[in-house]
Amino acid sequence: MPTADLVILGGGSGGYACALRASQLGLSVILIDQDKLGGTCLHRGCIPTKALLHAAEVADSTRESEHFGVRATFEGIDMARVNAYRDAVVGRLYKGLQGLVKSRSVTFVEGTGRLVAPNAVEVGGTRYEGANVVLATGSYARTLPGLEIGGRIMTSDQALALDEVPEKVIVLGGGVIGVEFASVWKSFGSDVTIVEALPHLVPNEDESCSKALERAFRKRGISFTLGVRFQSAAQDDAGVHVTLEDGTTLDADLLLVAVGRGPNATGMGYEEQGIAMERGWVLVDERLRTNVPNVYAVGDITPGLQLAHRGFQHGIFVAEQIAGLNPAIIEDINIPRVTYCEPEVASIGMTEAQARAAHGDDVAIYEYSLAGNGKSQILDTAGFIKLVQHRDGPVIGVHMVGSRVGEQIGEAQLIVNWEATPDNVALLIHAHPTQNEAMGEAHLALAGKPLHAHA
Ligand SMILES: Cc1cc2nc3c(=O)[nH]c(=O)nc-3n(C[C@H](O)[C@H](O)[C@H](O)COP(=O)(O)OP(=O)(O)OC[C@H]3O[C@@H](n4cnc5c(N)ncnc54)[C@H](O)[C@@H]3O)c2cc1C
Repeated sequence: MPTADLVILGGGSGGYACALRASQLGLSVILIDQDKLGGTCLHRGCIPTKALLHAAEVADSTRESEHFGVRATFEGIDMARVNAYRDAVVGRLYKGLQGLVKSRSVTFVEGTGRLVAPNAVEVGGTRYEGANVVLATGSYARTLPGLEIGGRIMTSDQALALDEVPEKVIVLGGGVIGVEFASVWKSFGSDVTIVEALPHLVPNEDESCSKALERAFRKRGISFTLGVRFQSAAQDDAGVHVTLEDGTTLDADLLLVAVGRGPNATGMGYEEQGIAMERGWVLVDERLRTNVPNVYAVGDITPGLQLAHRGFQHGIFVAEQIAGLNPAIIEDINIPRVTYCEPEVASIGMTEAQARAAHGDDVAIYEYSLAGNGKSQILDTAGFIKLVQHRDGPVIGVHMVGSRVGEQIGEAQLIVNWEATPDNVALLIHAHPTQNEAMGEAHLALAGKPLHAHA
């Protein structure tokens, strides 16, 4: 019977990161996946969608080329070529990841696993035993009651397989996945309407970011309805017909259901082995331990942010925990978040509302407009960097909107996670002309010494 220090069920971001780190620490690892190594992020999530968003940016640049004095004509989107480019990117990364896992002597088992004992996973009749078991089976695209996926009604999984650009699309859900697809399709030439039941797009972000994105989307001609719930959808040869609770009807060629992702944790023996779960999520303590000794859970099956880099960090954490290294606890609030639509939205730490709820009036806010930032003007983008400071203390939140601001999240997360004060950051030099300068300018201003900003 194959045995190892760790048996990991699921080879997505959480599972494979755990495998790689554990083997680095000298532990033996069996990694099980029923599909391709790399999981949702590599094959159906982060990477393919960001490739589409890059193609969308190229389309926009071509359309807008005249503005920059460059003569080019936008003739349309060749979806087969876009998909080939995207698949080539995914393929290269997949090959690299397979090589990495092999080089670290991780035993990869292909097949559907089931937890048959707290220390064992069975795959196709073979039992794999581990001194520790890590559950990393990820998430699936949810739908709403009565809204069946099929035909013209699809989730991101089917949307990524489309071989043509739809003329008219309805996107149900204005969260991260919804706005990213809306942004791609608009750039590709579709007529797009987003339906969001909450009062704002990207409703988990600081309200000022949501409002700025709404303004930008309006300007781009992306329609949306806010605060009205979906009621029903029907499809026929002509298209898909959506009715909202206020009686509004919308017609389109397809409906993307982007109402969130649920944990992929049922029917694999977790309940039978006594793993504590709540509404399908696997419950863990702050050290990612389930209630069953030596069984851990990482990534999207645990309640919280559903992000690949959270999965990576969870995986690394568990490997180090098992190796006895006492890693630092991972707090969701300090995990960077980027939404890659155009314009991008990026944030870390507390929103202004969360900071005010936690610290009352002891909060200072500063918003630096990208209008004052040379590189943003060169790129012709609007937006801002908003800082949330615990008054006279560290910066506890950074919230940004604008083209390419996702690239600024690296410094933002250092600032928040190292609990830097505006004075600390004001001492650091930001290269000119970069969008990164706006980060420096915002901190200079909050430190009471604005340079390219009014006091
Ligand atoms: C459209 C889309 C865009 C996204 N964009 C981003 C982004 O830009 N940035 C970001 O950070 N995150 C993004 N995400 C989220 C990110 O993909 C997930 O947070 C991440 O993949 C979670 O990793 P995981 O290891 O928990 O699960 P997954 O990556 O879902 O991996 C779980 C693995 O377990 C396997 N598995 C499940 N059950 C079994 C079983 N019984 N036996 C064997 N194997 C099993 C599956 O095959 C899968 O490979 C996106 C997601 C989607 C859908």
